[in-house]
Amino acid sequence: SADAEYVLSLIRTIPGFPNKNVLFRDFMPVLADPKGLATLLKALKLALPVAARDFDSVAGLEARGFLFGPALAASLGKGFIALRKTGKLPPETISEQYTLEYGQESVEVETNAISSNERVLIVDDLIATGGSANAAAHLVEKCGGKVAGFSFVMELQGLGGRASLGSYPASALVTMP
Ligand code: IMP
Repeated sequence: SADAEYVLSLIRTIPGFPNKNVLFRDFMPVLADPKGLATLLKALKLALPVAARDFDSVAGLEARGFLFGPALAASLGKGFIALRKTGKLPPETISEQYTLEYGQESVEVETNAISSNERVLIVDDLIATGGSANAAAHLVEKCGGKVAGFSFVMELQGLGGRASLGSYPASALVTMP
């Protein structure tokens, strides 16, 4: 769509960050552009992987999921749940560990952040291998919630991220190599 094209035109690519052989995709210029920000939110709303009536809240992954998740949630009349990196929250928390290419990571939420059977849409800026998204899904389920689906701004091709999500509904505004 024209909206997705406009968002794509503002995404910055930085070769060699955070390490050699990585093409870092940066959506900060989309947020900084007044038309870009409005277009991004509108396009995410139109590209939801499930109808808005089929989820109760939006959960964003730290840190870039925090940059548009609350605005998207507000525009849909939903609340926002922050899925934090470890060590940021006071007790009690529930956490989920996952393995990255180099080392261990984890995400956590406050024990009562998600109610039983709450249907949660998970958002992040980008899906690559899908490791972070799957950890977020497991965390939501550990808390007693249900994963309604995933919304991403960007999807990197060829890393198996989408397939790793199995049967969870997912959408991405733009797909990039
Ligand atoms: P995955 O867990 O391999 O799917 O990687 C996705 C996670 O790493 C997300 O939380 C992204 O924010 C981050 N990430 C990986 N590659 C990039 C990139 O090129 N640009 C921005 N974020 C990235």
